[in-house]
Amino acid sequence: MDEIQQAKWDELKARWREVYDLTGVAALLHWDQATYMPPAGGAARARQSALIERLAHERRTDPAIGRLLDDLASWFDSLPAESVEAAHYRRMRKAYERATRIPGAFVAQFTEHVANTYMVWTEARPANDFERLRPYLEKTLDLSRQMAEFFPGYAHIADPLIDMADEGMTVAVIRPLFETLRQRLASWVDVIANCPQVDVSFLRRRYPKAQQLAFGERIAAAFGYDFTRGRQDETHHPFMTKFSHDDVRITTRVDEYDLANALFSTLHETGHALYEMGIDAAYDATVLDAGTSLGVHESQSRLWENLVGRSRRFWQHYYPALRATFPEQLADIDLETFYRAINRVEPSLIRTEADEVTYNLHVIIRFDLELELLEGKLSVAELPEAWRARYEENLGVRPPDDRDGVMQDVHWFAGPIGGSFQSYALGNIMAAQFYAAALDAHPEIEDEIGQGCFTTLHNWLRHNIYRHGARYTADELLRRVTGQPLTLEPYLAYLSRKYSELYGPM
Ligand code: ZN
Repeated sequence: MDEIQQAKWDELKARWREVYDLTGVAALLHWDQATYMPPAGGAARARQSALIERLAHERRTDPAIGRLLDDLASWFDSLPAESVEAAHYRRMRKAYERATRIPGAFVAQFTEHVANTYMVWTEARPANDFERLRPYLEKTLDLSRQMAEFFPGYAHIADPLIDMADEGMTVAVIRPLFETLRQRLASWVDVIANCPQVDVSFLRRRYPKAQQLAFGERIAAAFGYDFTRGRQDETHHPFMTKFSHDDVRITTRVDEYDLANALFSTLHETGHALYEMGIDAAYDATVLDAGTSLGVHESQSRLWENLVGRSRRFWQHYYPALRATFPEQLADIDLETFYRAINRVEPSLIRTEADEVTYNLHVIIRFDLELELLEGKLSVAELPEAWRARYEENLGVRPPDDRDGVMQDVHWFAGPIGGSFQSYALGNIMAAQFYAAALDAHPEIEDEIGQGCFTTLHNWLRHNIYRHGARYTADELLRRVTGQPLTLEPYLAYLSRKYSELYGPM
Protein backbone atom coordinates (compact mmCIF):
# COMPACT_ATOMS: atom_id res chain seq x y z
CA MET A 1 0.00 0.00 0.00
CA ASP A 2 1.50 3.33 -1.02
CA GLU A 3 1.07 6.65 0.76
CA ILE A 4 -1.82 7.79 -1.39
CA GLN A 5 -3.68 4.53 -0.86
CA GLN A 6 -3.00 4.74 2.86
CA ALA A 7 -4.48 8.25 2.97
CA LYS A 8 -7.55 7.06 1.08
CA TRP A 9 -8.00 4.05 3.32
CA ASP A 10 -7.74 6.32 6.37
CA GLU A 11 -10.32 8.66 4.91
CA LEU A 12 -12.66 5.78 4.14
CA LYS A 13 -12.41 4.52 7.71
CA ALA A 14 -12.94 8.05 9.07
CA ARG A 15 -16.08 8.43 6.96
CA TRP A 16 -17.36 5.08 8.14
CA ARG A 17 -16.69 6.06 11.76
CA GLU A 18 -19.24 8.86 11.31
CA VAL A 19 -21.83 6.35 10.07
CA TYR A 20 -21.00 4.13 13.07
CA ASP A 21 -21.37 7.03 15.51
CA LEU A 22 -24.64 8.24 14.01
CA THR A 23 -25.95 4.68 14.24
CA GLY A 24 -24.93 4.65 17.91
CA VAL A 25 -26.76 7.93 18.50
CA ALA A 26 -29.88 6.55 16.81
CA ALA A 27 -29.65 3.48 19.07
CA LEU A 28 -29.32 5.70 22.13
CA LEU A 29 -32.43 7.66 21.17
CA HIS A 30 -34.34 4.43 20.69
CA TRP A 31 -33.08 2.93 23.96
CA ASP A 32 -34.21 6.02 25.86
CA GLN A 33 -37.59 5.92 24.16
CA ALA A 34 -38.02 2.27 25.16
CA THR A 35 -36.90 2.74 28.79
CA TYR A 36 -37.11 6.16 30.45
CA MET A 37 -38.65 8.70 28.07
CA PRO A 38 -41.86 10.25 29.42
CA PRO A 39 -44.83 9.51 27.13
CA ALA A 40 -45.20 13.13 26.04
CA GLY A 41 -41.70 13.09 24.55
CA GLY A 42 -42.82 10.82 21.72
CA ALA A 43 -43.53 13.33 18.97
CA ALA A 44 -40.22 15.16 19.25
CA ARG A 45 -38.36 11.89 19.60
CA ALA A 46 -39.84 10.56 16.34
CA ARG A 47 -38.60 13.74 14.63
CA GLN A 48 -35.14 13.47 16.19
CA SER A 49 -34.80 9.81 15.30
CA ALA A 50 -35.87 10.43 11.71
CA LEU A 51 -33.27 13.21 11.43
CA ILE A 52 -30.44 11.05 12.75
CA GLU A 53 -31.46 8.11 10.52
CA ARG A 54 -31.51 10.44 7.51
CA LEU A 55 -28.07 11.84 8.34
CA ALA A 56 -26.71 8.31 8.79
CA HIS A 57 -28.20 7.25 5.45
CA GLU A 58 -26.71 10.31 3.71
CA ARG A 59 -23.29 9.57 5.17
CA ARG A 60 -23.54 5.87 4.31
CA THR A 61 -24.47 6.57 0.70
CA ASP A 62 -22.14 9.52 0.16
CA PRO A 63 -20.70 9.18 -3.37
CA ALA A 64 -17.29 10.00 -1.86
CA ILE A 65 -17.37 6.57 -0.20
CA GLY A 66 -18.06 4.97 -3.58
CA ARG A 67 -15.13 6.84 -5.15
CA LEU A 68 -12.76 5.84 -2.36
CA LEU A 69 -13.86 2.21 -2.64
CA ASP A 70 -13.27 2.33 -6.41
CA ASP A 71 -9.85 3.99 -5.99
CA LEU A 72 -8.83 1.26 -3.56
CA ALA A 73 -10.12 -1.64 -5.67
CA SER A 74 -6.67 -2.52 -7.07
CA TRP A 75 -5.18 -2.43 -3.58
CA PHE A 76 -7.98 -4.73 -2.40
CA ASP A 77 -7.27 -7.13 -5.30
CA SER A 78 -3.65 -7.37 -4.16
CA LEU A 79 -4.59 -8.39 -0.61
CA PRO A 80 -4.62 -11.99 0.58
CA ALA A 81 -8.32 -12.91 0.63
CA GLU A 82 -7.99 -14.14 4.22
CA SER A 83 -6.60 -10.86 5.59
CA VAL A 84 -8.52 -8.59 7.94
CA GLU A 85 -8.14 -5.66 5.54
CA ALA A 86 -9.71 -7.69 2.72
CA ALA A 87 -12.67 -8.61 4.92
CA HIS A 88 -12.95 -5.00 6.07
CA TYR A 89 -12.96 -3.68 2.51
CA ARG A 90 -15.45 -6.35 1.33
CA ARG A 91 -17.87 -5.58 4.15
CA MET A 92 -17.73 -1.84 3.56
CA ARG A 93 -18.25 -2.32 -0.17
CA LYS A 94 -21.24 -4.57 0.47
CA ALA A 95 -22.77 -2.14 3.00
CA TYR A 96 -22.31 0.76 0.58
CA GLU A 97 -23.77 -1.12 -2.38
CA ARG A 98 -26.72 -2.35 -0.36
CA ALA A 99 -27.45 1.17 0.86
CA THR A 100 -27.13 2.74 -2.60
CA ARG A 101 -28.83 0.03 -4.67
CA ILE A 102 -32.24 0.92 -3.28
CA PRO A 103 -33.26 4.40 -4.54
CA GLY A 104 -33.81 7.05 -1.89
CA ALA A 105 -37.36 7.69 -3.09
CA PHE A 106 -38.20 4.02 -2.59
CA VAL A 107 -36.67 4.03 0.89
CA ALA A 108 -38.80 7.05 1.81
CA GLN A 109 -41.96 5.44 0.38
CA PHE A 110 -41.29 2.14 2.11
CA THR A 111 -40.43 3.76 5.46
CA GLU A 112 -43.59 5.83 5.43
CA HIS A 113 -45.74 2.88 4.40
CA VAL A 114 -44.49 0.57 7.16
CA ALA A 115 -44.77 3.37 9.74
CA ASN A 116 -48.44 3.71 8.79
CA THR A 117 -48.92 -0.05 8.73
CA TYR A 118 -47.41 -0.36 12.19
CA MET A 119 -49.81 2.26 13.55
CA VAL A 120 -52.79 0.45 12.05
CA TRP A 121 -51.46 -2.86 13.44
CA THR A 122 -51.36 -1.46 17.00
CA GLU A 123 -55.12 -0.87 16.70
CA ALA A 124 -56.17 -3.72 14.41
CA ARG A 125 -54.53 -6.47 16.45
CA PRO A 126 -56.38 -5.81 19.72
CA ALA A 127 -59.57 -5.35 17.69
CA ASN A 128 -58.94 -8.66 15.88
CA ASP A 129 -59.53 -6.81 12.60
CA PHE A 130 -57.30 -8.32 9.93
CA GLU A 131 -59.50 -6.93 7.18
CA ARG A 132 -58.39 -3.44 8.15
CA LEU A 133 -54.75 -4.43 7.74
CA ARG A 134 -55.23 -6.38 4.51
CA PRO A 135 -54.75 -3.49 2.03
CA TYR A 136 -51.65 -2.34 3.93
CA LEU A 137 -50.18 -5.81 3.87
CA GLU A 138 -50.94 -6.17 0.17
CA LYS A 139 -48.94 -3.03 -0.48
CA THR A 140 -46.13 -4.27 1.80
CA LEU A 141 -45.98 -7.47 -0.25
CA ASP A 142 -45.81 -5.48 -3.45
CA LEU A 143 -43.04 -3.24 -2.05
CA SER A 144 -41.15 -6.26 -0.71
CA ARG A 145 -41.09 -7.76 -4.19
CA GLN A 146 -39.87 -4.43 -5.58
CA MET A 147 -37.16 -4.33 -2.94
CA ALA A 148 -35.91 -7.75 -3.99
CA GLU A 149 -35.89 -6.61 -7.63
CA PHE A 150 -33.22 -4.02 -6.81
CA PHE A 151 -30.87 -7.01 -6.40
CA PRO A 152 -31.27 -8.90 -9.66
CA GLY A 153 -29.64 -12.24 -10.29
CA TYR A 154 -31.25 -14.06 -7.37
CA ALA A 155 -32.38 -17.69 -7.57
CA HIS A 156 -35.45 -17.08 -5.37
CA ILE A 157 -37.18 -13.75 -4.89
CA ALA A 158 -36.78 -14.05 -1.09
CA ASP A 159 -33.00 -14.45 -1.37
CA PRO A 160 -32.10 -10.74 -1.46
CA LEU A 161 -34.33 -10.13 1.57
CA ILE A 162 -32.81 -13.06 3.46
CA ASP A 163 -29.33 -11.84 2.52
CA MET A 164 -29.96 -8.54 4.32
CA ALA A 165 -30.26 -10.40 7.64
CA ASP A 166 -28.24 -13.54 6.98
CA GLU A 167 -25.67 -12.79 4.32
CA GLY A 168 -25.07 -15.71 2.00
CA MET A 169 -28.06 -17.75 3.16
CA THR A 170 -30.59 -18.68 0.47
CA VAL A 171 -33.94 -20.39 0.13
CA ALA A 172 -32.16 -23.29 -1.57
CA VAL A 173 -30.07 -23.89 1.57
CA ILE A 174 -32.74 -23.14 4.15
CA ARG A 175 -35.84 -24.83 2.74
CA PRO A 176 -34.64 -28.48 2.80
CA LEU A 177 -33.08 -27.94 6.22
CA PHE A 178 -36.31 -26.54 7.63
CA GLU A 179 -38.38 -29.30 6.05
CA THR A 180 -36.29 -32.00 7.73
CA LEU A 181 -36.49 -30.09 11.00
CA ARG A 182 -40.25 -29.62 10.69
CA GLN A 183 -40.92 -33.31 10.18
CA ARG A 184 -38.75 -34.35 13.10
CA LEU A 185 -40.17 -31.75 15.48
CA ALA A 186 -43.77 -32.50 14.50
CA SER A 187 -43.24 -36.20 15.28
CA TRP A 188 -41.77 -35.32 18.70
CA VAL A 189 -44.68 -33.01 19.45
CA ASP A 190 -47.00 -35.97 18.75
CA VAL A 191 -45.07 -38.18 21.19
CA ILE A 192 -45.00 -35.53 23.91
CA ALA A 193 -48.72 -34.84 23.54
CA ASN A 194 -49.37 -38.25 25.13
CA CYS A 195 -46.96 -37.80 28.05
CA PRO A 196 -47.86 -36.67 31.57
CA GLN A 197 -46.93 -33.05 32.24
CA VAL A 198 -45.39 -31.37 35.25
CA ASP A 199 -47.45 -28.70 37.03
CA VAL A 200 -45.90 -25.31 36.27
CA SER A 201 -48.31 -23.15 38.26
CA PHE A 202 -45.62 -22.40 40.89
CA LEU A 203 -43.84 -20.24 38.31
CA ARG A 204 -46.87 -17.93 38.58
CA ARG A 205 -46.57 -17.22 42.28
CA ARG A 206 -45.54 -13.71 43.26
CA TYR A 207 -41.82 -13.08 42.78
CA PRO A 208 -40.94 -9.47 43.74
CA LYS A 209 -39.33 -7.44 41.01
CA ALA A 210 -36.17 -6.33 42.83
CA GLN A 211 -35.12 -9.90 43.60
CA GLN A 212 -35.89 -11.05 40.07
CA LEU A 213 -33.71 -8.29 38.62
CA ALA A 214 -30.86 -8.93 41.06
CA PHE A 215 -30.85 -12.66 40.39
CA GLY A 216 -30.82 -12.18 36.61
CA GLU A 217 -27.95 -9.69 36.82
CA ARG A 218 -26.01 -12.03 39.06
CA ILE A 219 -26.13 -14.71 36.35
CA ALA A 220 -25.38 -12.21 33.58
CA ALA A 221 -22.23 -11.21 35.47
CA ALA A 222 -21.29 -14.87 36.02
CA PHE A 223 -21.65 -15.52 32.28
CA GLY A 224 -19.15 -12.70 31.69
CA TYR A 225 -21.32 -9.64 31.02
CA ASP A 226 -19.18 -6.61 31.91
CA PHE A 227 -21.26 -4.10 33.89
CA THR A 228 -18.55 -1.47 33.47
CA ARG A 229 -19.36 -1.59 29.73
CA GLY A 230 -23.10 -2.07 30.00
CA ARG A 231 -26.19 -2.00 32.17
CA GLN A 232 -29.65 -3.52 32.34
CA ASP A 233 -32.90 -1.54 32.35
CA GLU A 234 -36.58 -2.37 32.09
CA THR A 235 -38.65 -2.14 28.92
CA HIS A 236 -41.76 -3.65 27.27
CA HIS A 237 -40.08 -5.79 24.60
CA PRO A 238 -36.58 -6.81 25.74
CA PHE A 239 -33.65 -6.12 23.42
CA MET A 240 -29.87 -5.69 23.40
CA THR A 241 -28.45 -2.49 21.99
CA LYS A 242 -25.01 -1.08 21.31
CA PHE A 243 -24.00 2.60 21.35
CA SER A 244 -20.27 1.94 20.95
CA HIS A 245 -17.69 -0.77 21.46
CA ASP A 246 -17.69 -0.14 25.22
CA ASP A 247 -21.38 0.55 25.83
CA VAL A 248 -23.47 -2.56 25.16
CA ARG A 249 -26.78 -2.58 27.03
CA ILE A 250 -29.48 -5.09 27.76
CA THR A 251 -33.12 -4.64 28.72
CA THR A 252 -35.66 -6.92 30.33
CA ARG A 253 -39.32 -7.02 31.31
CA VAL A 254 -40.41 -8.11 34.75
CA ASP A 255 -43.74 -9.73 35.51
CA GLU A 256 -44.01 -10.34 39.25
CA TYR A 257 -46.32 -13.26 38.54
CA ASP A 258 -44.02 -15.00 36.06
CA LEU A 259 -40.61 -16.12 37.30
CA ALA A 260 -39.37 -17.43 33.94
CA ASN A 261 -40.08 -14.36 31.82
CA ALA A 262 -37.48 -11.87 33.01
CA LEU A 263 -34.95 -14.53 33.96
CA PHE A 264 -34.66 -16.15 30.54
CA SER A 265 -35.02 -12.88 28.68
CA THR A 266 -32.03 -11.56 30.66
CA LEU A 267 -29.97 -14.65 29.83
CA HIS A 268 -30.98 -14.31 26.17
CA GLU A 269 -30.04 -10.65 25.85
CA THR A 270 -26.85 -11.29 27.81
CA GLY A 271 -25.86 -13.79 25.11
CA HIS A 272 -26.35 -11.12 22.42
CA ALA A 273 -24.33 -8.66 24.50
CA LEU A 274 -21.44 -11.05 25.18
CA TYR A 275 -21.02 -11.40 21.41
CA GLU A 276 -20.83 -7.61 20.87
CA MET A 277 -18.65 -7.03 23.93
CA GLY A 278 -16.23 -9.74 22.82
CA ILE A 279 -15.38 -8.22 19.44
CA ASP A 280 -11.70 -7.34 18.97
CA ALA A 281 -11.09 -3.79 20.24
CA ALA A 282 -9.03 -3.16 17.10
CA TYR A 283 -12.30 -3.20 15.12
CA ASP A 284 -13.78 -0.37 17.22
CA ALA A 285 -15.93 2.02 15.17
CA THR A 286 -15.53 0.03 11.96
CA VAL A 287 -17.97 -2.02 9.91
CA LEU A 288 -16.40 -5.13 11.52
CA ASP A 289 -17.50 -4.06 15.02
CA ALA A 290 -20.80 -5.95 14.85
CA GLY A 291 -22.12 -9.49 14.94
CA THR A 292 -21.81 -11.04 11.50
CA SER A 293 -25.47 -11.95 10.88
CA LEU A 294 -28.79 -12.10 12.70
CA GLY A 295 -28.66 -15.90 12.66
CA VAL A 296 -25.22 -16.04 14.29
CA HIS A 297 -26.34 -13.38 16.76
CA GLU A 298 -29.36 -15.45 17.69
CA SER A 299 -27.13 -18.52 18.03
CA GLN A 300 -25.23 -16.75 20.80
CA SER A 301 -28.34 -15.62 22.67
CA ARG A 302 -29.94 -19.05 22.42
CA LEU A 303 -26.72 -20.80 23.42
CA TRP A 304 -26.59 -18.97 26.74
CA GLU A 305 -30.35 -18.94 27.29
CA ASN A 306 -31.10 -22.56 26.43
CA LEU A 307 -28.07 -24.81 26.05
CA VAL A 308 -26.55 -23.37 29.22
CA GLY A 309 -29.42 -21.65 31.03
CA ARG A 310 -32.03 -24.39 30.70
CA SER A 311 -29.63 -27.26 31.37
CA ARG A 312 -29.80 -29.54 34.37
CA ARG A 313 -26.16 -28.93 35.30
CA PHE A 314 -26.68 -25.19 35.36
CA TRP A 315 -29.58 -25.48 37.79
CA GLN A 316 -27.80 -28.05 39.93
CA HIS A 317 -25.56 -25.14 40.81
CA TYR A 318 -28.01 -22.23 40.68
CA TYR A 319 -31.25 -23.69 42.01
CA PRO A 320 -30.14 -23.49 45.66
CA ALA A 321 -29.35 -19.81 45.08
CA LEU A 322 -32.71 -19.21 43.40
CA ARG A 323 -34.44 -20.95 46.27
CA ALA A 324 -32.54 -18.82 48.80
CA THR A 325 -33.73 -15.75 46.87
CA PHE A 326 -37.37 -16.89 46.94
CA PRO A 327 -37.53 -19.17 50.00
CA GLU A 328 -41.31 -19.07 50.49
CA GLN A 329 -42.31 -19.29 46.85
CA LEU A 330 -40.07 -22.28 46.12
CA ALA A 331 -40.23 -24.05 49.50
CA ASP A 332 -42.21 -27.00 48.13
CA ILE A 333 -40.46 -27.18 44.73
CA ASP A 334 -37.45 -29.46 44.33
CA LEU A 335 -34.76 -29.13 41.65
CA GLU A 336 -36.26 -31.81 39.43
CA THR A 337 -39.70 -30.18 39.41
CA PHE A 338 -38.16 -26.82 38.61
CA TYR A 339 -36.01 -28.25 35.83
CA ARG A 340 -38.99 -29.99 34.25
CA ALA A 341 -41.14 -26.90 34.54
CA ILE A 342 -38.71 -24.63 32.69
CA ASN A 343 -38.41 -27.25 29.95
CA ARG A 344 -42.04 -28.20 29.57
CA VAL A 345 -43.00 -28.80 25.95
CA GLU A 346 -46.51 -27.80 24.99
CA PRO A 347 -47.88 -26.64 21.64
CA SER A 348 -49.20 -23.11 21.97
CA LEU A 349 -50.38 -20.26 19.81
CA ILE A 350 -47.71 -17.67 20.59
CA ARG A 351 -44.18 -17.94 19.20
CA THR A 352 -42.45 -15.81 21.83
CA GLU A 353 -43.78 -18.01 24.63
CA ALA A 354 -42.93 -21.32 22.94
CA ASP A 355 -40.60 -23.97 24.36
CA GLU A 356 -37.42 -25.20 22.65
CA VAL A 357 -39.11 -28.02 20.74
CA THR A 358 -42.14 -26.19 19.34
CA TYR A 359 -40.43 -22.82 18.83
CA ASN A 360 -38.97 -23.66 15.44
CA LEU A 361 -42.32 -24.91 14.17
CA HIS A 362 -43.69 -21.40 14.75
CA VAL A 363 -40.75 -19.97 12.81
CA ILE A 364 -40.95 -22.45 9.93
CA ILE A 365 -44.67 -21.77 9.45
CA ARG A 366 -43.90 -18.06 9.05
CA PHE A 367 -40.97 -18.72 6.73
CA ASP A 368 -43.06 -20.98 4.48
CA LEU A 369 -45.92 -18.49 4.34
CA GLU A 370 -43.52 -15.65 3.48
CA LEU A 371 -42.19 -17.64 0.55
CA GLU A 372 -45.67 -18.53 -0.69
CA LEU A 373 -46.72 -14.87 -0.52
CA LEU A 374 -43.63 -13.70 -2.40
CA GLU A 375 -44.00 -16.48 -4.98
CA GLY A 376 -47.60 -15.41 -5.58
CA LYS A 377 -48.94 -18.83 -4.56
CA LEU A 378 -50.81 -17.32 -1.63
CA SER A 379 -52.73 -14.05 -1.50
CA VAL A 380 -52.87 -11.78 1.52
CA ALA A 381 -56.63 -12.42 1.68
CA GLU A 382 -55.96 -16.15 2.05
CA LEU A 383 -53.21 -15.66 4.65
CA PRO A 384 -55.25 -15.86 7.90
CA GLU A 385 -56.83 -19.18 6.95
CA ALA A 386 -53.50 -20.56 5.67
CA TRP A 387 -52.03 -19.61 9.04
CA ARG A 388 -54.75 -21.44 10.97
CA ALA A 389 -54.45 -24.52 8.78
CA ARG A 390 -50.67 -24.69 9.24
CA TYR A 391 -50.97 -24.35 13.00
CA GLU A 392 -53.49 -27.13 13.12
CA GLU A 393 -51.37 -29.34 10.87
CA ASN A 394 -47.98 -28.74 12.56
CA LEU A 395 -48.83 -27.95 16.16
CA GLY A 396 -52.29 -29.39 16.62
CA VAL A 397 -53.68 -26.06 17.80
CA ARG A 398 -55.97 -23.73 15.88
CA PRO A 399 -55.93 -20.02 16.72
CA PRO A 400 -59.44 -18.95 17.68
CA ASP A 401 -58.83 -15.49 16.19
CA ASP A 402 -56.33 -13.54 14.06
CA ARG A 403 -55.12 -11.53 17.05
CA ASP A 404 -53.20 -14.55 18.31
CA GLY A 405 -52.88 -15.91 14.79
CA VAL A 406 -51.53 -14.05 11.80
CA MET A 407 -51.35 -10.66 13.55
CA GLN A 408 -49.29 -11.74 16.60
CA ASP A 409 -45.79 -10.78 15.43
CA VAL A 410 -44.85 -7.23 14.56
CA HIS A 411 -42.39 -8.22 11.78
CA TRP A 412 -44.66 -8.16 8.71
CA PHE A 413 -46.32 -4.98 9.96
CA ALA A 414 -43.11 -3.04 10.55
CA GLY A 415 -40.86 -4.20 7.72
CA PRO A 416 -40.77 -6.21 4.52
CA ILE A 417 -42.35 -9.62 4.02
CA GLY A 418 -39.42 -11.98 3.58
CA GLY A 419 -36.13 -12.30 5.42
CA SER A 420 -37.74 -11.65 8.80
CA PHE A 421 -38.00 -15.05 10.45
CA GLN A 422 -35.38 -17.53 9.28
CA SER A 423 -32.71 -16.10 11.61
CA TYR A 424 -34.51 -17.41 14.70
CA ALA A 425 -34.41 -21.05 13.61
CA LEU A 426 -30.97 -20.73 12.02
CA GLY A 427 -29.77 -19.38 15.36
CA ASN A 428 -31.04 -22.44 17.21
CA ILE A 429 -29.40 -24.78 14.72
CA MET A 430 -26.07 -22.93 14.79
CA ALA A 431 -26.10 -22.66 18.58
CA ALA A 432 -26.05 -26.46 18.86
CA GLN A 433 -23.40 -26.74 16.15
CA PHE A 434 -21.10 -24.23 17.87
CA TYR A 435 -21.74 -25.71 21.31
CA ALA A 436 -20.89 -29.23 20.11
CA ALA A 437 -17.59 -27.87 18.77
CA ALA A 438 -16.88 -26.17 22.10
CA LEU A 439 -17.54 -29.41 24.00
CA ASP A 440 -15.33 -31.33 21.58
CA ALA A 441 -12.48 -28.94 22.28
CA HIS A 442 -13.17 -28.71 26.03
CA PRO A 443 -15.22 -31.58 27.46
CA GLU A 444 -14.75 -30.04 30.93
CA ILE A 445 -17.18 -27.23 30.03
CA GLU A 446 -20.21 -29.20 31.24
CA ASP A 447 -18.67 -29.96 34.63
CA GLU A 448 -17.68 -26.33 34.99
CA ILE A 449 -21.25 -25.23 34.28
CA GLY A 450 -22.31 -27.56 37.09
CA GLN A 451 -20.02 -25.54 39.36
CA GLY A 452 -21.31 -22.17 38.16
CA CYS A 453 -18.14 -21.50 36.18
CA PHE A 454 -18.39 -20.34 32.56
CA THR A 455 -14.84 -19.18 31.89
CA THR A 456 -13.76 -21.96 29.54
CA LEU A 457 -16.93 -21.71 27.45
CA HIS A 458 -16.83 -17.92 27.36
CA ASN A 459 -13.16 -17.88 26.38
CA TRP A 460 -13.76 -20.43 23.65
CA LEU A 461 -16.63 -18.37 22.23
CA ARG A 462 -14.58 -15.18 22.42
CA HIS A 463 -11.65 -16.75 20.68
CA ASN A 464 -13.55 -18.60 17.97
CA ILE A 465 -16.60 -16.40 17.33
CA TYR A 466 -16.90 -13.09 19.20
CA ARG A 467 -13.53 -11.48 18.51
CA HIS A 468 -14.01 -11.80 14.73
CA GLY A 469 -17.08 -9.56 14.68
CA ALA A 470 -18.22 -9.27 11.07
CA ARG A 471 -14.89 -10.46 9.63
CA TYR A 472 -16.30 -13.81 8.46
CA THR A 473 -19.74 -14.58 7.05
CA ALA A 474 -21.88 -17.08 8.94
CA ASP A 475 -20.90 -19.82 6.50
CA GLU A 476 -17.18 -19.03 6.78
CA LEU A 477 -17.44 -18.94 10.55
CA LEU A 478 -19.26 -22.28 10.74
CA ARG A 479 -16.68 -23.97 8.53
CA ARG A 480 -13.75 -22.48 10.42
CA VAL A 481 -15.11 -23.24 13.86
CA THR A 482 -16.97 -26.53 13.36
CA GLY A 483 -15.34 -27.84 10.17
CA GLN A 484 -18.74 -28.06 8.51
CA PRO A 485 -21.31 -25.90 6.78
CA LEU A 486 -24.68 -25.36 8.45
CA THR A 487 -25.84 -28.78 9.62
CA LEU A 488 -28.84 -29.99 11.54
CA GLU A 489 -27.37 -33.07 13.24
CA PRO A 490 -25.94 -31.48 16.40
CA TYR A 491 -29.23 -29.68 17.01
CA LEU A 492 -31.38 -32.77 16.53
CA ALA A 493 -28.99 -34.76 18.72
CA TYR A 494 -29.18 -32.11 21.44
CA LEU A 495 -32.98 -31.96 21.43
CA SER A 496 -33.38 -35.71 21.23
CA ARG A 497 -30.98 -36.32 24.13
CA LYS A 498 -32.52 -33.68 26.34
CA TYR A 499 -36.19 -34.34 25.70
CA SER A 500 -35.97 -38.15 25.58
CA GLU A 501 -34.71 -37.94 29.11
CA LEU A 502 -37.68 -35.76 30.07
CA TYR A 503 -40.47 -37.39 28.06
CA GLY A 504 -39.28 -40.84 27.02
CA PRO A 505 -37.73 -42.10 23.76
CA MET A 506 -38.26 -39.87 20.73
ZN1 ZN B 1 -32.49 -12.64 20.22
